[in-house]
Amino acid sequence: MAKKWVYPFEEVDQAEKYAGSWDGVRGLLGGKGSGLADMTRAGVPVPPGFTVTTEACNEFRKTGKFPPGMWDQMLEALKVVEQKTGKKFGDPENPLLVSCRSGAKFSMPGMMNTILNIGLNDAVVQGMIKLTNNPRFVWDAYRRLVDMFGTTVFGVDDEIFAQPLTDYKARKGYKLDTDMTADDWKALVGTFKQAYKKTIGEDFPQDVYKQMELATKAVFESWMGKRAIDYRRATNISDDLGTAVNIVTMVFGNMGDDSGTGVAFTRNPSTGDKKMMGEYLMNAQGEDVVAGIRNTQQIDELVKNMPQVYNQFMDITSKLEQHYKDMQDVEFTIERGKLWMLQTRNGKRTAKSTVKIAVDMANEGLITKEEAVLRVTPEVVDALLHPQFDENAKKDAVVYAKGVNASPGAAVGQAYFDADTAEKMAKENKQATIMVRPFTKPDDVHGMIASQGVLTSEGGATSHAAVVARQFGIPCVVGASMIKIDLENRIMEVNGTSVKEGEWISVDGTTGQVYVGKLPTSAPSLEEQTDLLTLLTWADEITARKEIRTLPDGRKAPGVQVWANADYPKDARRARSYGAKGIGLCRTEHMFFETERLPIVQKMILAETSEERTKQLNLLLPTQRKDFDGLFEAMDGYPVIIRLIDPPLHEFMPDEEKLLEEVIEMRVKGETRGLQEKENLLATIKGLHESNPMMGLRGVRLSIVMPEIVEMQVRGIFEAAADCHLRGIVVHPEVMIPLTGTVKELEWIQPRLVRIAKAVMEEKKATFTYKFGTMIEIPRAAVTAGELAKLAEFFSFGTNDLTQMTFGYSRDDAERNFLITYVAEGILPKNPFQTIDREGVGRLMQMAVNEGRQTRPDLEVGICGEHGGDPDSIEWCHMIGNNYVSCSPFRVPIARLAAAHVALKYAGQKILEDK
Ligand code: PEP
Ligand code: MG
Repeated sequence: MAKKWVYPFEEVDQAEKYAGSWDGVRGLLGGKGSGLADMTRAGVPVPPGFTVTTEACNEFRKTGKFPPGMWDQMLEALKVVEQKTGKKFGDPENPLLVSCRSGAKFSMPGMMNTILNIGLNDAVVQGMIKLTNNPRFVWDAYRRLVDMFGTTVFGVDDEIFAQPLTDYKARKGYKLDTDMTADDWKALVGTFKQAYKKTIGEDFPQDVYKQMELATKAVFESWMGKRAIDYRRATNISDDLGTAVNIVTMVFGNMGDDSGTGVAFTRNPSTGDKKMMGEYLMNAQGEDVVAGIRNTQQIDELVKNMPQVYNQFMDITSKLEQHYKDMQDVEFTIERGKLWMLQTRNGKRTAKSTVKIAVDMANEGLITKEEAVLRVTPEVVDALLHPQFDENAKKDAVVYAKGVNASPGAAVGQAYFDADTAEKMAKENKQATIMVRPFTKPDDVHGMIASQGVLTSEGGATSHAAVVARQFGIPCVVGASMIKIDLENRIMEVNGTSVKEGEWISVDGTTGQVYVGKLPTSAPSLEEQTDLLTLLTWADEITARKEIRTLPDGRKAPGVQVWANADYPKDARRARSYGAKGIGLCRTEHMFFETERLPIVQKMILAETSEERTKQLNLLLPTQRKDFDGLFEAMDGYPVIIRLIDPPLHEFMPDEEKLLEEVIEMRVKGETRGLQEKENLLATIKGLHESNPMMGLRGVRLSIVMPEIVEMQVRGIFEAAADCHLRGIVVHPEVMIPLTGTVKELEWIQPRLVRIAKAVMEEKKATFTYKFGTMIEIPRAAVTAGELAKLAEFFSFGTNDLTQMTFGYSRDDAERNFLITYVAEGILPKNPFQTIDREGVGRLMQMAVNEGRQTRPDLEVGICGEHGGDPDSIEWCHMIGNNYVSCSPFRVPIARLAAAHVALKYAGQKILEDK
C-alpha cells in the first residue's frame, strides 16, 4: 500500500499512532493541521478538511513532484469532505469551496502561503450566485481568488491587481471597498483576469482540481521562500521540518451582517492578564482583521451583536485553554450566525506575559510549578531585565505620538521607512534603527528583526507588526494614527512637527508613547517584577532539592547554586537582591584603579626597597579593608571569594607611548622641570614591558616575586572579616589565588598567607571559618588538579583564561581577527569565550573536578569566567558537578532559571565521571 500522505481531520488517532506522540503529530501534520484535527476530535465546530503531511512536503522538496499516491489520497479525502458538507467541488449547482493553508510544526505567522476560495470558476460563480442570492459577495470572492492565485502561486507583484482596483474606485468616486457593487466587482474580475493572463502568460485556471494542485505546490514551495527562510534563521527552526498543507472547507465571514471573522487570545498576550483579548470584523473575510487595514471591534462587543455565538465562543476557547494548558491564539468565522473555529495554537506573547501566564497557570493548578519554570526560557528573563526609559527623562520629554503598546521595552534609533533600508542601515552601517511603517506585512520581518524598535501608524494589538514584535522581543508601538507617514518623501509628521528619515526617535513599547530624539534608558528593577520573583523562587526551590544530582560515590547533592562576580559593595548588594547566594569573584585590583588610589599603587610599584613598598601598601590597607568590609556586610551569611591581585603591573602604569611622547616633547622644548621623574617612570615601565603580558608576570607569579602586595590584601580581608564578625555579621571569607600552574606555587605562598590570616584572627580575638583556594585557569592546573587540591580547599574555573590558554587564542583579539569567521564557517560551533567548549576546555574542567575530589572529597568547585552566566555552560557545570556558577549580578536571574532547567532536565542523574 502507498504511504499515507493525507490525513482527514477525523483521522487524528491514526496520525497519533503513526507518529508515536502528540509532538510527533505536530511534526507530521503541523501546528495548524494537528490543532484542527484535535479540535474536530473534541467536538469543536471545525469546517471539514484534511492535511497533507510535512513528509510529503519534504519529498516534494527533494524531487519537485508530489510523492506517488499523494494526489489520489487528496482526491479521496476531498470526496469525504464533499460527503460531510453535502457539496461538490467544481459543481456549479452546489459548489464546495476550499482554502489551502500552510502550517509547519512551529507557527510562522504570515510567513507562508494561504489561498482562499479555491473551487471558483466562471461556471461556479453563476451557481453560487443562484444559491446565495448574493452576487456582490460571489464576485468579490472570485476577484480575491484571481488576485491570490496571481500573487501567491505565481509570485507576481500585488500592484498588477491593487492598481486597477484603486483606479476603478477613483473613476467611480468610491472611497472604500464596501462602496463597490456586484457589477463593479464583476467588471473588476474581468480586468484581473486580463492582468493575470498578460503577466503570467496563461488564463486563470478554470479547472478546479488544477487550482487545488497549483495551490498545494505553492504552499510547499513557500517553505523555501526567502521570507520563511529569514524567519527560520531568526527563530532557530530547522529547514528539515517542512510544512503541511491543509485543505479546509471555506466558511464565509462576508456573507452579510450575520457573518464575521476574528482572532483572539484567551489571555492578554501583552500583559498576561487573564482576560480574553481579540478583535473581529462583521461582514469581512480572511486576513482583513490581522492585516490591520480596517478598524476592528473588540471581542467583548460580540456579546451585544450575537450573544449566543459569543457564549459558545467563550465556552469553546476556555475548554481549549484547559485542554492545551496554555494560552490559545484562535481564529474564527461566523457564517450566517454559525460559529466555526479555524485555528487554535499556543499564542505568541511578550516576555512579561510569558512569566505571568506561567505563574498564574501554576497558581490555578493548571500546570505544575516545574512546568511553569520550564515554560520560561532564560531569554525571556533577559528581555525582562532590558532597559526601560528613565522615568525622570520621560517627565521632561514631549510626547510626539501615542499608539498601542504592542511589545514592551525601550527602543532608541534612527527612523527608516521601509524594511530593506532599516535592515541595511542596521547591518551595514551598524546603526540603531527604528522601522516606521503605516503597517507591516510578512515580507517586512527582516527589517523588524534588524531594528531596535518598530512603529506603525495603523493596526491594533493583534496586527502583524504587534504579533511579530512580541515574538522577537522587539519594543513596538502600533496604530499611532496621528502620525502621517509620507513614504515617497521619506518623512513623517504630527501636527506640523516632522521627522525625516535617519532622525532619532525613541519608542516606548511599554506605554505606547513615541518621542523625538534620544531618551536615556535605565535598567528595570527586579523587585517590581513580582511574577518573575515568584518564578525564580520556585526555580531556586527546584535547584536546592537534595536529590538533584548523584555524586560518583553515590551520595546525593543539589543542583548548582548561583553566585555573583562583584567588586564593590554596591555590586554585592545588587547581586544579593537578584538572588545570588555568594560572591564567586571579587577582582581586588579593580579597587586599585580608583583615582585617589592609583598614584599610591604606582608609587608602590616604583618602590625600590621592600620597606618603601610596604609603606605605600600600608596606605592602601585601610581602603582595601573598607571595601572588603562592605562586601562581607552585603553578603552576611554567604561565602565571599576574594581573589588576590592578578594582572601584570604595567596595567597600573601610565601609557608608555603617551609618556614617551611627553618626554620627547620636553626634551625638544628644552624643558627640564619634572623631566627626570618622567624619564625614570618611562624606564620602569619599559622594564615592566613583556612580549606576552597575559602569560607573564601576573597572578600567583607576581605574588611570589612581590609578596608584600598579597600580604597586605590578606591582612585587609581578615581584618575586615574579623571586624564584621565582631559586629555580628556572619562571614565566610575565601581567599583565591589566581593563575596557579603548579602545586609548588601554592606550597610557596599559601602557608605565608595562612599565617597572616591566623595572626589577624588572634589579634582581633575573632574566630570564623575561612578557605584558601585557587583558580583553575591554566591547562596544567586542570591536569594536575589532584595535586593542587592537597592545598587548595576550593577550585574556581577561570574559563576566560582557561579558554585562552587551551585554544591558544588571545581573549582580547580573537573575535576581531578570526573567531567570528571560524564560527560563520562552522570551524567552531559557537564562540568559545561565550559558551564552554565541552570537548576541550570542558573536558579539562571535568578532569579537574574528578581529580580534585579524589584528593579532597568535599572540594568546593565553581566557575567565575564569563561562561558562568551562559545557560549552555551552566548545564555543563551542573553535569560535571560544580557546586555553583558565578556571573555578573545582572545575569544572576537568568542563571537561576537556567540552573533550575538543567536540574529538571537531568534530575537524579549521576555526575559525569572523567572518560
Ligand atoms: C577568568 O580568567 O576566567 C577570570 C575570571 O579571570 P579574569 O577574567 O579576571 O582573568
Ligand atoms: Mg583569569
